[in-house]
Amino acid sequence: MKLVASESLSRIDALHCSACGTKYSAFDLQRVSACCSQPLEADYDLHEPLSRDVIDQADTSMWRYGALLPLLHNENKVTLGEGMTPMLNLPRLAARYELSSLLLKDEGQNPTGSFKARGLSMAVSKAKEFGVEGCIIPTAGNAGVAMAAYCARAGLRAVVVMPRHTPKAFKEECYWYGAEVELVDGLISDCGARVRQRNADGALLDISTLKEPYRLEGKKTMGYEIAEQFNWQLPDVLLYPAGGGTGLIGIWKAFQEMKALGWLAPETRLPRMVAVQAQNCCPLLETYAGRQPNCHSYQGSATLANGLAVPHPWAKP
Ligand SMILES: *Cc1c(COP(=O)(O)O)cnc(C)c1O
Repeated sequence: MKLVASESLSRIDALHCSACGTKYSAFDLQRVSACCSQPLEADYDLHEPLSRDVIDQADTSMWRYGALLPLLHNENKVTLGEGMTPMLNLPRLAARYELSSLLLKDEGQNPTGSFKARGLSMAVSKAKEFGVEGCIIPTAGNAGVAMAAYCARAGLRAVVVMPRHTPKAFKEECYWYGAEVELVDGLISDCGARVRQRNADGALLDISTLKEPYRLEGKKTMGYEIAEQFNWQLPDVLLYPAGGGTGLIGIWKAFQEMKALGWLAPETRLPRMVAVQAQNCCPLLETYAGRQPNCHSYQGSATLANGLAVPHPWAKP
């Protein structure tokens, strides 16, 4: 289905392959790039002046940044009020680590209890916009719950594939939201293989991390909010619990867009970005430290931080 932008505020004008830069239409449903089978990134027209007044101050969800999100028609928005989470001051923890200031962006206050809500609100909205019958996802828990909730909200079919050892609460929430749940022996990578098998005909939108360009756009709103909540200054250091890495990439993308837009003062220093991983499953750390060439054959095991149990985060290093 081909769409054109209408009354939408969105300034999206194309997508490009993150590996080679080849352009793709923003008005067709896209998954990964046909040229390199790598993630696609959304590009906005940031050259015409676009002041911070485009932020819809009356909207207290992440959709206040709609001009910089890829939704073409507002009636396709699938929202449960995600985003604009509070920034909590943590003075006692700051004192313990001898920091002058430490803040926590409390993403647990999102609908369904995690920042997965942002990406899934965006991706399910695009699934609805392009008339897809439903969505499928491999998940360690939170993303599946969020997808089930947003698909229920939109009236779309939801298929969630999760490891058998996933805590019971996640499985039950998916059932309650009406999703079809399949349990797999193994980690999220094994679930990913099962998703590809189950969706071989492509009838459903595969919302695996970075296998479609929309979740990233939802997650980048964390970057816009951090800047807005810091009154367009930025923190010195940003710590992010990284699994597949969408959030970290998204926040960085938001900072780049805000620089291009002139929303940040030219002398603004971008934060040092720290990817935090679990001891039992830290493929990004091992690769970054040069102890392996990439994440392809990393051996991870289950961890209490189950949202971070992603042994083979996808996309070219
Ligand atoms: C998914 C998840 C992460 C990892 O997020 P990515 O952006 O995929 O790296 C971290 N913490 C929690 C609680 C999660 O649900």
